[in-house]
Amino acid sequence: MELKNGSKIAIIGGGPAGTFSAIFLLDLAQQIDLKIEVEIFEPRDFTFTGPRGCNMCGGVISESLVQKLASHGIHLPDELLIDTIDAYTLHTDLSSVEIRAPKDEMRIACIFRGAGPKGAENQPPIPWISFDNHLLELALEKGATHIQEKVKGLKKVDGLPVLSWGGDKSETYDLVVGCLGLNSPALHMFEDLDFGYKPPKSTKAYVTELYFGDEEVARLLGHSMHVFILNIPGVKFIALTPKGPYATLIILGDDIDKELVNKVFHAPEMQKCLPVGWEIPVQTCHCQPHINIGAPKNPYTDRIVLVGDCSSSRLYKDGIGAAYRLAKAMAYTATTHGVSEKSFQRFFRPACRKLDWDNRLGHLIFFGDSLMRPISFFQEAIIEVIKEEQTQEQVPPRLSTSLWDTFTGSASYRNIVVRSMHPVVLFKLIWQALKKLFGFN
Ligand SMILES: Cc1cc2nc3c(=O)[nH]c(=O)nc-3n(C[C@H](O)[C@H](O)[C@H](O)COP(=O)(O)OP(=O)(O)OC[C@H]3O[C@@H](n4cnc5c(N)ncnc54)[C@H](O)[C@@H]3O)c2cc1C
Repeated sequence: MELKNGSKIAIIGGGPAGTFSAIFLLDLAQQIDLKIEVEIFEPRDFTFTGPRGCNMCGGVISESLVQKLASHGIHLPDELLIDTIDAYTLHTDLSSVEIRAPKDEMRIACIFRGAGPKGAENQPPIPWISFDNHLLELALEKGATHIQEKVKGLKKVDGLPVLSWGGDKSETYDLVVGCLGLNSPALHMFEDLDFGYKPPKSTKAYVTELYFGDEEVARLLGHSMHVFILNIPGVKFIALTPKGPYATLIILGDDIDKELVNKVFHAPEMQKCLPVGWEIPVQTCHCQPHINIGAPKNPYTDRIVLVGDCSSSRLYKDGIGAAYRLAKAMAYTATTHGVSEKSFQRFFRPACRKLDWDNRLGHLIFFGDSLMRPISFFQEAIIEVIKEEQTQEQVPPRLSTSLWDTFTGSASYRNIVVRSMHPVVLFKLIWQALKKLFGFN
């Protein structure tokens, strides 16, 4: 079951997973002189500001991903990178500490998925450049076609997938790549085909774009992403990221509601990062997207494969980087080994399993954090160890880099666990915790 000259491929969804899939499929096919047709179904217009043009995300990408993309000819222009982050400020209920980027290439780039937040239409920088639109344009330059429609139906006829959209349009394909993300009700089309696909477990997150203006953002946040590990039940992680005149606030946790968002805004450590007397605007650009927190079941069968958030991703970080990896593995499999279930099982599945296994460790880290978070002397011990690492050049920044990598996509959870379990780090943490507990210096 192989792709041949003239094979038709449909990609459902033009987010990062869809456009990376198109780019890699077309590049690899060209290398082996295979003539394929790639159609991307994407109803959204990413050139719009606000929810209409946006795929709902924090919009931070690691410098290492920016460089990997560049090595594949996927260059992100400077105007797309709204801000660059070279430090994290970790806030606990008791105090805060700044963690600088371990190396220059470990900085973070900030992007908007659509053409800026709601209300940004008339604000500089105009025009706002959309990350998703930039990738879509690159895929079109490589030869993909964009069909601005929502796919409504998927069935198999004589072993070939058939898609339907619009009023009465339908088409048969040699391969269908599902890149719908997690916020689409159309995911049921894949479940209904009875090849055993189950979408990954997900939970709702909260994202809002806060307009402070360039000067206030620079004064309050600098070039630092502010991460809050606060003892608010139900909240796993809060991040406030500078993006030009905006600050993007993300809250990850379970069952986030208005009351919980209010608690976050009124936490004393958060208040320090907001302009004095600032109130949450009623009409602020906000959303509650689903975030991937589990592994999918059977994300492929003959001639059908799922990539991106609706398949395997990375827990609480680097979803765009995970989409890039899976798209690459899928395109390599389809162009080199064929589009049968067996080929995907053998050559695509390992990339999914690698992410799924690492996420299990990620869950363990977050579980450990939830146990430790209410223990104030442990929080203080972490801050003290980081302060020592950040102020004394001869001290290797083991805990600092582990935390940096927990918040970015720069390393796997496995690598983070190995480094933070270093005997020196454990000894220092226990020593600092005992000092705080018994009050001696
Ligand atoms: C709160 C939050 C913060 C995040 N922050 C970050 C971050 O800072 N950095 C990072 O790397 N990742 C982040 N992520 C993860 C990241 O957003 C995702 O991993 C990434 O968007 C996955 O890309 P995707 O293409 O799989 O899905 P999406 O980006 O969701 O794209 C899916 C596309 O499919 C289209 N579609 C849906 N249904 C249909 C249909 N029936 N027909 C045609 N098209 C359809 C949609 O319009 C959409 O464009 C965050 C996620 C959340 C929820």
